[in-house]
Amino acid sequence: IKANFTIVQDEEGNFNGLITVISDVTEQEKVDRERREFVSNVSHELRTPLTTMRSYLEALTDGGALEDKELAPRFLQVTQDETERMIRLVNDLLQLSKMDHKESTMYKKRLDIVPMFHQILDRFEMNKTEKIYFERKIPEESISVWLDQDKITQVTDNIMSNAIKYSPEGGKITLQLVKEPHRVRISISDQGLGIAREKLDKIFDRFYRVDKARSRELGGTGLGLAISKEIIEGHHGHIWASSKEGQGTTVYFTLPLTKRKRGSKK
Ligand code: ADP
Repeated sequence: IKANFTIVQDEEGNFNGLITVISDVTEQEKVDRERREFVSNVSHELRTPLTTMRSYLEALTDGGALEDKELAPRFLQVTQDETERMIRLVNDLLQLSKMDHKESTMYKKRLDIVPMFHQILDRFEMNKTEKIYFERKIPEESISVWLDQDKITQVTDNIMSNAIKYSPEGGKITLQLVKEPHRVRISISDQGLGIAREKLDKIFDRFYRVDKARSRELGGTGLGLAISKEIIEGHHGHIWASSKEGQGTTVYFTLPLTKRKRGSKK
């Protein structure tokens, strides 16, 4: 903390008062440090696929793998996968950057979220490849919310994909909608490996992964929940997680039930 004092005098030079300006230097330092860490993270995340691709391309050209009918397609597949990863990463980064600069406008409208969440789950049911069960705890009554449908779908997709990624075979994933007095609470629970208590808040940080190698293997960028958090906060909601290690994880988010009127503080 930095403090600046200014003595205030009247026209005759008599002491009239003291102005103290206290500025929080630590806050600025924190922002600077976070920015440096972010740039270093992005560089690292891009360097990993690039160096992988370089090795495989070298093996193909100099190492003679190009002539090998079995190796060549496999090596090309790796470079293709790594390219896809970089595209995902850059797209995620662009979305975050837009939200940081408040450029990304939300296209909010009033919508009954009951059919919306049924549709999302129908889609997951249709596309599922693993042996996973989906349970719906969705009320019958309609629940009207002011939201950007695409963005809330993106948040739900992200949490659902994580739940599937970290589910054991035959695991159950439950999506629940609970109407509370002023908000609706959506939760997605899995029966996966869970997350240690001290890491629960961190999963919403950019690039944080509990298990880096595993997340990479599953195609993750480490940005999904950070983007989700930005979107939920853009809706004046909250997002958090609870977990029991070895038993499963639940990710919750809330959305306010009524439209916030401009200028109202409530
Ligand atoms: P990723 O692209 O790695 O999935 P996310 O931001 O979506 O990035 O998630 C951050 C990290 O949180 C994941 O790498 C994983 O370690 C942890 N995580 C998220 N959801 C779950 C879950 N349902 N069960 C266990 N761990 C999870």
